[in-house]
Amino acid sequence: MNIKLILIVVLIFASLISGLVLFAFGSNSSFYSQKCNSKIMPITGEFIYREQIVKELQIIENNCDYLNFISENVVGIYAENPGLMNAGEYHGGSFKIYVDPYAASEYISAGIIIHETCHAYQDKKNMSYSEEDCTTTEYNFLKNIGAPKKDIELFESRNKSHIALLGYTTNGNDVFEMWKLEK
Ligand SMILES: [Zn+2]
Repeated sequence: MNIKLILIVVLIFASLISGLVLFAFGSNSSFYSQKCNSKIMPITGEFIYREQIVKELQIIENNCDYLNFISENVVGIYAENPGLMNAGEYHGGSFKIYVDPYAASEYISAGIIIHETCHAYQDKKNMSYSEEDCTTTEYNFLKNIGAPKKDIELFESRNKSHIALLGYTTNGNDVFEMWKLEK
């Protein structure tokens, strides 16, 4: 084997390895649903968190309307673990949502994605942010998507306790249904 050939083999090997490393640990992932013919949704954050968000989007994909609700109102999902159980955030004007990928369950995290999408939609429509409406939207999502009974019960018990005191109750409007009526 001559030196040139060895060099080429080494180069090919190195580029394969670096490609794999980038694939695994690069800072971006994305989600596309063939079933719903959705837009490509960029996901940023640490690799394992991003992979978890993909699993949660696969739950949402069971109802294409919910997935389109996200696609139309959100430009990206930032997978973060803020150390707060079952939490997410929306930063006004960004149309980017921040989601804890490791809430109590994959369904609960999927619900958080819907909750934060609800805030993005409120922002887009210049509506005032309503926790009650987004919590109602999130609750109805969990029921409509067929979340396990234990997750529904967990959601209900949390909302009966301290969270209800902060206005996160489920007697508001379903913002997803409002969005659908616009179609
Ligand atoms: Zn909220």
